[in-house]
Amino acid sequence: MDTVSKNKRSEIMKANKPKGNKSTELKLIQLFKKLGMKGWRRNYQISGSKPDFVFAKKRIAVFADGCFWHGHNCRNLIPKQNSEYWQKKIENNRIRDKQIDERLEPKGWKVIRIWECEIKEKNKEKLKLLKKSSVVH
Ligand SMILES: [Zn+2]
Repeated sequence: MDTVSKNKRSEIMKANKPKGNKSTELKLIQLFKKLGMKGWRRNYQISGSKPDFVFAKKRIAVFADGCFWHGHNCRNLIPKQNSEYWQKKIENNRIRDKQIDERLEPKGWKVIRIWECEIKEKNKEKLKLLKKSSVVH
């Protein structure tokens, strides 16, 4: 790998931080508040996984998935350079996501995944659904 593509790679990594995507989480918190959804907690571990938000009483685990890292097809996200590298990385993330779902669901958890690009005021249908599923008390 030459230096140019290496730099490019770290650039992409920086722009798409895999964990602790604060702005996505903060946006979600704002929407929860706006929709009057209460009872969520952060930093709550279930079976070795750490959902972004957990409604513990209702046993609902919410993951806010970054479109790049989790392979959402909303845009053409995979860079042309090193596309094989990225594809593999993203594929592994998707497999891991699925494994988490499969681990949590038999334990009575409902897993809800929200794409980064869906966390928008104008695009909150999924969040409304979350509210409808009687998360709110
Ligand atoms: Zn997306």
